[in-house]
Amino acid sequence: MTQSIVRTSAAELYDAHVMKNYARAPLTLVRGSGTRVWDDTGKSYLDFTSGIAVSALGHCHPQWVAAVQRQAGELIHVSNLFRNPNQGELARRIVGQAGAGRVFFCNSGAEANESLIKLARLHGKKKAGGEEGKCYKIICAKHAFHGRTFGGMSATPQEKIQKGFAPLVPGFVFGELNNLRSFEELIDEQTAAIFVETIQGESGITPCTTEFLVGLRDLCNRHKLLLLLDEVQCGVGRSGTFYAFEQHGIQPDAIGMAKGLGGGMPIGAIWVRENAAELFQPGSHGTTFGGTPLACAAALAVLDVIEKEQLLEHVAKASVAWLQNLRGLVAEFPGKVLAIRGTGFMIGVQLASDPAPVIAALREAGLLVPAAGNNVFRLLPPLNATVEELAKSVEIIRGVLRALPAA
Ligand code: PLP
Repeated sequence: MTQSIVRTSAAELYDAHVMKNYARAPLTLVRGSGTRVWDDTGKSYLDFTSGIAVSALGHCHPQWVAAVQRQAGELIHVSNLFRNPNQGELARRIVGQAGAGRVFFCNSGAEANESLIKLARLHGKKKAGGEEGKCYKIICAKHAFHGRTFGGMSATPQEKIQKGFAPLVPGFVFGELNNLRSFEELIDEQTAAIFVETIQGESGITPCTTEFLVGLRDLCNRHKLLLLLDEVQCGVGRSGTFYAFEQHGIQPDAIGMAKGLGGGMPIGAIWVRENAAELFQPGSHGTTFGGTPLACAAALAVLDVIEKEQLLEHVAKASVAWLQNLRGLVAEFPGKVLAIRGTGFMIGVQLASDPAPVIAALREAGLLVPAAGNNVFRLLPPLNATVEELAKSVEIIRGVLRALPAA
């Protein structure tokens, strides 16, 4: 085949050849450094999207780049038919953070959650004395988002995500987030697990309350259910602690993580507590790419930098003044900004109007942010965003809100 020598723009190539399943911004990004990205016209932006909470260290952190370059020149992939030192070391680090247990590696948030759902099925089978199909229900939360695979989508009670794909995986039932009684009422002898995001992300940044999580832990203990936490978006430091649940004094039975873990390299993982981890035996579950030397080298670099640069402390501390500034926007723009929600560097700005024109105006003004839910835009800066960059984001938002016509 002959190669075309005509240079085609990225926009034209996307139009002609890429599937149309995303509503993309009209922007082609070509370079990144720290909290900044550049488009193909040379314009730079403050990136508070972070690839949807992925670029934990910002773009091209030198220690991360060095680790990935070194590993790429040494060994990239061997499959899980063999051991590799990085996977063992990363599992040790995750266990050190989460508690006694074991880790399974995969490649994305949806895959991590799919693994949790399969774990719940195996737990249910054990609970039912080894009988399959007797105990399989998982209680999730309304407005949850757990991914686009069949399991994750079935656990995601949103019409826009499920529409067109029936029949879904059976066994998912839904309570009201932060309403313990609504979860308790759904428990029966067929229930195997409770599965929630510690902070709901995609639907507009809604944290679980301590009371709710403590109550869920108690319900799970009393009814022998697994408590599964989806920390795909809120985990790996984004909330100001390594896992968001650490702020609530509870311990889950299993955690799903991805996004920030690889700092841009695709990786997902589940941590499962001792005893429950034995539910996975050879053949129960697997993936070709999970835990490659390269992906694990990237994740180890993320963990090293978080530690070395004290990023958990930074997020916890810097977010206090930032949040206070952001909350000031509610009073400053009544009728335009309804609420500011979230913790750490995972903030939702709830508007009185459609956020799409605001997001476009922010982009024009040099700030990239993603939408969430119906009327929210999110602020997801890298964990090492500076106090000045956080303050700059508020200044840009203020400018855009000022110019926004009253709702
Ligand atoms: N769970 C949560 C809480 C998420 O926010 C996401 C993605 O946004 C997922 C699961 C799915 O992760 P992925 O897109 O990596 O499959």
